Amino acid sequence: MATALEIIVTGLFGAVIGSFLNVVVHRVPRGESLVSPGSHCPECGAPVRPYDNVPIVSWLVLLGRCRDCGARIPVRYPLVELLTLTVVAAVVAVNGFDEDLAAELPFVAGLIALAAIDYDLKLLPNRIVYPLAAWGLLATLLVDRGDLVENLAAGAGAFAFLLLAVILYPRGMGMGDVKLSGAMGLYLGLSVIPALLVAFLSGSIVGLMMIAREGAAARKKAVPFGVFLALGGVVAVLAGPELIDLYEDKFLGE
Ligand SMILES: [Zn+2]
Repeated sequence: MATALEIIVTGLFGAVIGSFLNVVVHRVPRGESLVSPGSHCPECGAPVRPYDNVPIVSWLVLLGRCRDCGARIPVRYPLVELLTLTVVAAVVAVNGFDEDLAAELPFVAGLIALAAIDYDLKLLPNRIVYPLAAWGLLATLLVDRGDLVENLAAGAGAFAFLLLAVILYPRGMGMGDVKLSGAMGLYLGLSVIPALLVAFLSGSIVGLMMIAREGAAARKKAVPFGVFLALGGVVAVLAGPELIDLYEDKFLGE
């Protein structure tokens, strides 16, 4: 079990990761470098001072505006930082403070970045999906978590399953989702099954809620499926094996 201090400290580190993910989310789809130039206001170009670069806090202190030109800083920035803080704290609280974090944190960080980019632009860049897939294999080999054959099979299975879904029901899903679910399978192994279940369930629920509220107009505003895949991936990191056990107890009577 993780102590409260371990959860808090790692959570704050998560907020710093979230701050970096904001850079990733902004720059990767534009094909820009992640390291240079340093963070600057997109409106006036003023560099962000280190003391204005504190996750969540700086946005609140500046009341969401650039210190130099007063341009609005989207609320998305502190929200991604808060989300990453929460997910990282949850991973430590549920899975413990141990060497598995070295595998888990890059995986959930990649999922959060992809969810934000898909939400904004309705695309899942290969520049993040491919490294995530490579990380699935590498983490399986290096951190000794799970069985390589199982994870390869899970990756291929999840890829094939989503490919079938895209062929049968192309609306709202694309090849980016197919590749992402394959990458998730490589990392998660069998836990990719509850991950996909959560993704399809949550996607259906949100879709139906939007149609109920806005009618046909909801179709145009549909939340991209990568957001729900990422949610499923995080749930699987937190509770994948438990969800599989639950299913076996309930339906297979073992
Ligand atoms: Zn500015």
